[in-house]
Amino acid sequence: IFIAFEGGDGAGKSTQAARLAGALESLGHTVLRTREPGGTPIGEKLRSLVLDHGHGTIDARTEALMFAASRAAHAHQVIRPALAEGAVVITDRYIDSSVAYQGAGRGLGTDDVRKLNEWATENLEPDLTVLLDVHPEDGRERRTAGDAGEDRLESEPDDFHSRIRDAFLELAAARPEGYLVLPAKDPVEDLAARILERVGQLLQT
Ligand code: C5P
Repeated sequence: IFIAFEGGDGAGKSTQAARLAGALESLGHTVLRTREPGGTPIGEKLRSLVLDHGHGTIDARTEALMFAASRAAHAHQVIRPALAEGAVVITDRYIDSSVAYQGAGRGLGTDDVRKLNEWATENLEPDLTVLLDVHPEDGRERRTAGDAGEDRLESEPDDFHSRIRDAFLELAAARPEGYLVLPAKDPVEDLAARILERVGQLLQT
């Protein structure tokens, strides 16, 4: 099965993805944990091109195509082969991130960005998307408290992050059966338990 973690910056996706991967491995599942942008050598190069300071301004369409290119490589070279071998694939970000960041955040339009990414991945959809819903203000605190420092996009103003949050919530509301939406500021242990419970149900079906 294929599980995506989504949410704004500072939502705690990586922590929960790692927790879930560890729990499933200890239950005997083969797990592949991966992330976007990144996940393949070409994807990691695109990640540093898009995210690093110092590359000058990247226009919104170029940015959207770079994320989609990174995702195409990720879907074809990493995710599909792992699923074919029976692994549980857990990705930190997937198509919804582009719909939210480039479609809503950058104003390219959520439908166009979704279609671009469906084409890029040949319609590879997660079985479950865990959306860690973060208030832009809480996200800002957690972003700046982190040790990684701010990257180009994390320094965007709060209204950019509000548009992103709304877009994620709309995606979940449009197809509730495919989503688990949780408040990102709940305690880490509670979140981990609820996520594991839902994934456990999926694994039994
Ligand atoms: O998930 P992570 O924090 O590693 O993502 C790196 C950055 O990429 C974040 O700042 C996020 O805002 C940005 N991003 C984006 N569009 C995407 C995916 C990620 O702007 N489609």
